[in-house]
Amino acid sequence: MDVYHGMGTFPGIAIGKIQYYRGYDQNIRKYTITDTEKELVRFQKARKKAIEELQEWNRKEQAELGRGPRQMETYIQLLENSSFIRAIESMVVSEKVNVSYAIATTKDELSTTFAKLDDAYVKSRVESIRYLSERLIGILDSISKDRIQGEDPVILVSRELSPAHVVEMDQKKLLAIVTKQGSPISHTSILAKTINIPVLIGVSVDAEWDGCTGIVDGYNGTLYVEPDEDTLRVYRDKQQRDQKKQAELLKLRDAKDVTKDGTKVELLANIANLEDLDSVLSNGASGIGLLRSEFQYLGRENYPREGELYRVYRQVAQTMGDRKVVIRTVDLGADKQASYMDLPQELNPAMGNRGIRVCLDRKKMFRAQIRAIYRASIYGNLSIMYPMITSMREVEEIWKIVSEVKESLSQREIPYKDIPNGIMVETPAAAMIIPELAQKADFISLGTNDLTQYVLAMDAQNPQLEKKFDRHHPAVLRMMEMVIKATHEAGKKVLVCGELAAEKAMIPYFLKLNVDALSMAPACILPARKAVRNLDLTKM
Ligand code: PEP
Ligand code: MG
Repeated sequence: MDVYHGMGTFPGIAIGKIQYYRGYDQNIRKYTITDTEKELVRFQKARKKAIEELQEWNRKEQAELGRGPRQMETYIQLLENSSFIRAIESMVVSEKVNVSYAIATTKDELSTTFAKLDDAYVKSRVESIRYLSERLIGILDSISKDRIQGEDPVILVSRELSPAHVVEMDQKKLLAIVTKQGSPISHTSILAKTINIPVLIGVSVDAEWDGCTGIVDGYNGTLYVEPDEDTLRVYRDKQQRDQKKQAELLKLRDAKDVTKDGTKVELLANIANLEDLDSVLSNGASGIGLLRSEFQYLGRENYPREGELYRVYRQVAQTMGDRKVVIRTVDLGADKQASYMDLPQELNPAMGNRGIRVCLDRKKMFRAQIRAIYRASIYGNLSIMYPMITSMREVEEIWKIVSEVKESLSQREIPYKDIPNGIMVETPAAAMIIPELAQKADFISLGTNDLTQYVLAMDAQNPQLEKKFDRHHPAVLRMMEMVIKATHEAGKKVLVCGELAAEKAMIPYFLKLNVDALSMAPACILPARKAVRNLDLTKM
């Protein structure tokens, strides 16, 4: 048995087989092969499998989303017979190297050669080649399309995982995530939290663990590889105790969120995927306080269309009925990159072009999302909010777009509701202009994750700052207090949707400040409800 330590970013115990995911291993291992014929047959089979997968995926998307075919023809043609395929085959034969290495090298060469050409067709061709290369290498190295092998759920181990990769995975097959890179408030950790699985970061992962049995202890940040019988027994018992605790908590599913002294608060859920809707309901959330809409934009080859966005929002609105659903407009950039957007590389992505900044640069994309939300508004109780605001100028610009959207819907006699428009306060700039923002907005939502990193001027993704990253720094607390007070003075509601909202020690703090709602990962709702119901603020 080997024991490794990292940092647990979400509690829980997972026991299962480890799958090592190589998606981010830049250096595909190169080795010499003697039987080139055999290697070419492997390649041919992988291409055949990739085509079948694409066809299957396409069928599913059509059925579920009504989306038209992806770039199927291009992909299939590229896989069947193209200079890309011939270059790979020729490299295998002439240099006697493994085909995965030949694919990676050919792709890199093509990308470098065409990188400087500013031609939409060439760009999309290179994108397709990149995408297909990753798939082919995945198949050759036995990583299935949804990136999880076999039928059974796995502990996914990887050097680095991007939110886009997590979004694409079959989340029911994930028991836990273990990575080298990452941070507790990176979006990969947040996504994992939303699906209620333990996460370890800072573990020096090893591809040799692939196929081994593992135990992940998210409480103390430990990973056991090939655990002995005693350790397995101890952890199976712990898992059972966790399940019993959960069954106890479930009794609070329909209970009210009110303290012993009668202070009320709404406990809402943060979600990042349609699949999370089940856990919103099963954990008895009063609504959705943050729908991170990025999942519709990541892990694909092109912008989502308005109709596709609309169908998803309609489904969420219908599922939640009268319960509140706050949809945040898309917050791309920084650690959430969609390759088709071609956002230029930045020296300092955490301070870069992200969130509302990108949306106001790409108004067509932004308008499509706002229209989709307004069209879906008649099916439930939707609100909309905007991330990464720093100025009144941005707010004016957004309000103008919203009124144009509403006007154009009215002109076409497309029904919509006049839904609340909120602003996220997650930059110090927004906090400092809160009196003006609160006047304009229908509600304010505190994004404590970004607010903390920007107040501290510390990149939340930087592992070197992990120990210095003080989430409860007095500067952060004072700034939040200021925002909450000014928002209430303007007669508006304030909700908190960053990770601080779910911290047991922070719940009394927020309640004493009269915060109207706390929004958190669905799995945190019932423990928070228990904490709220046990509080007596008069005794604090
Ligand atoms: C936040 O910054 O606190 C927030 C809720 O937004 P995200 O974590 O999605 O950046
Ligand atoms: Mg944020």
